[in-house]
Amino acid sequence: MRSSLLWLFTLLDIGSRPPPAPKPRLVLVITVDQLRPDYFDRYRTQLNGGLAMLLKQGAVFAEAYQDHAVTETAPGHSTILSGRWPVHTGIDRNTAGVQDSAAPLLGVRGPGASPARFRGTEFFDWLKAAEPGARALSVSGKDRGAILPIGRAKQQVYWYAGGYFTTSRYYADSLPEWVRVFNGRRIPFKAAGATWNLLLPARSYTEPDSEPYENGGQDFTFPHRLSSDSARVALGFLAVPSMDSLTLAFALEGVRALGLGSRGAVDLLAVSLSTTDYVGHAYGPDSREIHDQVVRLDRSLGSFLEQLFVRYGSRNVLIVLTADHGVTPFPEHSRAAGHRDAQRVNVDTLLAAVNAQLDERAGGGAWLAFESGMVLLSQRRELAEQGVNVDSVVTSVAARLRAVPGVGRVDRPADLAKHDTTSAVVRRWMHQVPLDAGVELVATLKPYSIWLISNVPSIAMHGQPSDLDAHVPLILWGRALRRGVYQERVATVDIAPTLARLLGLTPAEPLDGRVLTEALASP
Ligand SMILES: [Zn+2]
Repeated sequence: MRSSLLWLFTLLDIGSRPPPAPKPRLVLVITVDQLRPDYFDRYRTQLNGGLAMLLKQGAVFAEAYQDHAVTETAPGHSTILSGRWPVHTGIDRNTAGVQDSAAPLLGVRGPGASPARFRGTEFFDWLKAAEPGARALSVSGKDRGAILPIGRAKQQVYWYAGGYFTTSRYYADSLPEWVRVFNGRRIPFKAAGATWNLLLPARSYTEPDSEPYENGGQDFTFPHRLSSDSARVALGFLAVPSMDSLTLAFALEGVRALGLGSRGAVDLLAVSLSTTDYVGHAYGPDSREIHDQVVRLDRSLGSFLEQLFVRYGSRNVLIVLTADHGVTPFPEHSRAAGHRDAQRVNVDTLLAAVNAQLDERAGGGAWLAFESGMVLLSQRRELAEQGVNVDSVVTSVAARLRAVPGVGRVDRPADLAKHDTTSAVVRRWMHQVPLDAGVELVATLKPYSIWLISNVPSIAMHGQPSDLDAHVPLILWGRALRRGVYQERVATVDIAPTLARLLGLTPAEPLDGRVLTEALASP
């Protein structure tokens, strides 16, 4: 009797934790550059493809954040599969992201790139340690979008440069045959003279299509005609919705050529889709163009996932969908919507004046720099050796910055820890700036204002520690997840620890994120 009960208990798995779900063959991590989660609500009734499927069947975290201050592409991509904030990954801004002249591109002109500044390990390193046969393919329109989700691992990492997908010397000495064949089709070049029309009937779009502040005041209404010059079209292809389908087609080609997920090990496919960012910058988050881009993204993701499911079976794929940051509307739009103080803020003249004074007192030097809301001073010691009281200079710069219209607050990083960390702004800066990185001050704009970068046209921007820029989608999809909408605040650093738990992996270092146990079928 006793033994048959035991047998029954074993059969029904009573009294013990349910066994973990069998491992997937493929982990797919999709990052949509600049995708704001409120787009899902705005366009929900028109979504019927990949986004609709993930929203309906996934574990959807409605309050997910890139919970750091400099909400830019490189820092955002560095948190997703590392489980750590920029303060710990070393990737604290785009301008000191993946640029690396020691790692030139293969076969095309463009800035060299590598993960040389990235510190520590990522999800793929933990996977590889447990399963030496594991492989990763990472694909994006942008170098930073392809490189940073993988960390330092020398895997198959490709991005778009001037009409072709390529990689850098950090990863390889030559492009594999399948990449050369794909590039040989010259798809972007063949789009010369094509037209970007609305996908749905015009009445489906409630946004005005005639805001002259969009796209630098040029070509801001549908239809958008691409140049008849094929080289120009290839160069600008990142800003055309077909770029996302091209990236997905390239990813599928890689999956086939590499036999990803077909050798017994779990493999990683990371795809970062860049066009939403280009369209959002040029036309803003309230435009007809971003609406059409997101509907098109939904459709192209749908057919991409269908093809993956045919290959692997949907039960064998684990999917994450998130974004690297959101975006703040054009100040013109914000002012019309009642945010009267919304403006573009530029402090270059202020900083240049301070540097000129320092040159007079201490001789010429690369003194203060202003990047991504941070006042940087790499030569603090040299300045002090010239008899300059650096602290008093910094205090005076802080006072002058605080007086600039549109600036909300200016802090010394070392002072932030003394503040209330329930303030999102303070918390996000603490997640951002290492105390030894030469950051003297951090400046935060008032809500709805944006930095105006010299020599860059007036575009919609992100990069602030505001919810507009930090709020992102986070959806987990797969048979090991519990579908539903989750309202608690979570962060993109929670993704890597959650994937590690799902695959039984041990992260190689302390993480900033937590396991999202509430969404796990067997927590
Ligand atoms: Zn981005």
